[in-house]
Amino acid sequence: MKRLRTDVLILGSGGAGLFAALHAREADPSLSITVAVKGLLGKCGCTRMVQGGYNVALAPEDSVERHFMDTIEGGKWLPDQELAWTLVTVAIERIRELENELGCYFDRNPDGTIHQKAFAGQTFDRTVHKGDLTGIEIINRLAEQVWASGMARMEEHRAVELIRNRSGDALAGVLMVDVRSGEFVMVQAKAVLLATGGGPTMYRYHTPSGDKTCDGLAMALRAGLTLRDMEMVQFHPTGLLAGPGTRMTGTVLEEGLRGSGGYLLNGSHQRFMHDYDPKGERATRDIVSRAIFSEMRAGRTTPHGGVYISMGHLGAERVRREFKGMVERCADCGFDLAGGLVEVVPTAHYMMGGVVFRGDCTTELPGLFVAGEDSGGVHGANRLGGNGVANSTVFGGIAGEAMAPWVRRHATLQEPDEAAIDAAIARARAPLGKRAGDLNAIREKLYDVMWDDVGIVRDAAGLARAEGALEELEARVDAAGAGGTDLAFNLTWHDWLNLKNLLLVSKAIRASAMAREDSRGAHYRSDCPDVRDLDRSRYVCVGWHDGRFEISTRPVEFTRVKPGETLLKEAAAA
Ligand SMILES: Cc1cc2nc3c(=O)[nH]c(=O)nc-3n(C[C@H](O)[C@H](O)[C@H](O)COP(=O)(O)OP(=O)(O)OC[C@H]3O[C@@H](n4cnc5c(N)ncnc54)[C@H](O)[C@@H]3O)c2cc1C
Repeated sequence: MKRLRTDVLILGSGGAGLFAALHAREADPSLSITVAVKGLLGKCGCTRMVQGGYNVALAPEDSVERHFMDTIEGGKWLPDQELAWTLVTVAIERIRELENELGCYFDRNPDGTIHQKAFAGQTFDRTVHKGDLTGIEIINRLAEQVWASGMARMEEHRAVELIRNRSGDALAGVLMVDVRSGEFVMVQAKAVLLATGGGPTMYRYHTPSGDKTCDGLAMALRAGLTLRDMEMVQFHPTGLLAGPGTRMTGTVLEEGLRGSGGYLLNGSHQRFMHDYDPKGERATRDIVSRAIFSEMRAGRTTPHGGVYISMGHLGAERVRREFKGMVERCADCGFDLAGGLVEVVPTAHYMMGGVVFRGDCTTELPGLFVAGEDSGGVHGANRLGGNGVANSTVFGGIAGEAMAPWVRRHATLQEPDEAAIDAAIARARAPLGKRAGDLNAIREKLYDVMWDDVGIVRDAAGLARAEGALEELEARVDAAGAGGTDLAFNLTWHDWLNLKNLLLVSKAIRASAMAREDSRGAHYRSDCPDVRDLDRSRYVCVGWHDGRFEISTRPVEFTRVKPGETLLKEAAAA
């Protein structure tokens, strides 16, 4: 096995990972920094896929207090208020950095100010964007800087396990696999950033990139860390529904379509959103997804079993101009977004839950930092569109700044627990040499279980059913082999590893959903539909110890504002 040493190891090259790398280097240019990533740097993960844009309070009529209140109210009073405050305040600094230091071009108004568009669930149009391909602009500029810096890169390297030190009280490094050769690599590091971006790809319809299979969250669980809010899986209401034979199905049609006035129509061509919420199509994602799901359950569906989005009434020219990427994507699948109807379905998009962390991105495991979609607590029960990329870039930068002094204070590398490495390798190699099982059939079943019983609408009976079904799937994966023993680019083997992680995290979602006996934001229990006790809000924590999930709850601390109050001076005065 190859062994490498570095001061800072960053897992993932999305907005969180790349910002962390650049900020760590800026904080201390003498650090050795290694960016390790499952795919190709700059080409994988979801930051690149960001369409709509980036929320930030820039306009004189807007304020960080307003952005904060939207985030807290959207998150149904579950967000950690200090983390949310950091998000909205540092986002201003970060967007300037993206423009002025990294060279991003965002769309502008005729007077030269940055154009900000409407996104659902916000009381002010504050979403900065580059057309509807904002993520490509951000990630290309970040990647260029990392490439130019000469930092060490481990591309097509998959993190397999977090390895503690010999005494078990700190992190020593990460066991990785070089996907190209199949060789195991143990990377010792003084500080490690977990930024693998979550990714709810265990649902039948999902938006995230195919490289994301909750690896970071699964590794964190196996390393004994606590995760929070795992029941909070956000469904984006408008995933493209282009039939079962294409991976385009599930990909997202951005929220700006509804924000700018798009209509949702059921299979009978009737607008229905106002039957569910006075804000109509501009209600938050959870409400719109549930409304669509209800129409689907009532059988008022389109030929492929979803609903329609209609933009034609806004003028085809305007739609083509403002949503060029979306119009082209739909045309590729045979739909006319500018003038006709496009079939859509709710699609699993984002995990609000993740590793419990502090404001400086440290975790309960010394040496491990977390940022971006792997972290939990910033968004609570619901993430506002536009707050995701803000989250990964804001906290990625903070993590980089915090890792540099950490490395100075902890100048020696920890020696890894060799027995833990051996156990991790044995676990990863378990399917090798056994006859290949039908992993595709297992994944299809996982999609069904999560969509039907742990999806948009849940109840105790369904969640109990899912428990047995997930255990059965785990047994099927364990019994399945990955074919031969040639490890170079052995994608069946990686598929097996992906499924193992998805199953562990699916079980954590299910257990957390069973524990939350009320309905909040993205988590809706039809057997307990009320939002209970906002002022005594608690969040659900889940850990994995000795092969069992441990569930606990902790109180939300209302450090800045209590339910029923506001930070907005004019609203308070009125
Ligand atoms: C289609 C789409 C549109 C979106 N639009 C918006 C939007 O308009 N506005 C908004 O705010 N948010 C949006 N989001 C959400 C946003 O993309 C994410 O919140 C954010 O980019 C996550 O950043 P990240 O750095 O945490 O993860 P990512 O950018 O996803 O990066 C994760 C990285 O980890 C790597 N990785 C994964 N597993 C491993 C492993 N085992 N070992 C090593 N590396 C690994 C991946 O290859 C990748 O490089 C969108 C998401 C999608 C999918």
